[in-house]
Amino acid sequence: MRPRPGVHRDNRFFWEGVRRGELLIQRCADCGRLRHPPSPMCPGCRSLAADAVKASGRGTVYSYCKPHEPRLPGFDPGYVVALVELAEGTRLVTNLIGIDPAEVRIGLPVAVEFVAVDPELTLPMFRPLRD
Ligand code: ZN
Repeated sequence: MRPRPGVHRDNRFFWEGVRRGELLIQRCADCGRLRHPPSPMCPGCRSLAADAVKASGRGTVYSYCKPHEPRLPGFDPGYVVALVELAEGTRLVTNLIGIDPAEVRIGLPVAVEFVAVDPELTLPMFRPLRD
């Protein structure tokens, strides 16, 4: 089984959004700055008030790696870990799907897809946009 995400009061909204098929980004309720991963305080204005906005789900590969060893339980060999920069400007660590790892490039356009990796866990992953 894949490791479970650490869900706590600062990121619970994010994982509840994932369960509904929505990719959410935390937004400062005072200055409007977006941030990810979720955190209790705005790094811009130090406000503790926050809400969330629904992301478009589109982005580009900002960076990536192809882990080989050690093999981890729940991860099939040949997976890609990517840092995806969303169209809204925040970045998140995720997996790429639907692509040969040899084809992954920085700047590759991708879109979110919610993948049920097991009956209790759905994760936001990203698939290349084909034109
Ligand atoms: Zn702020």
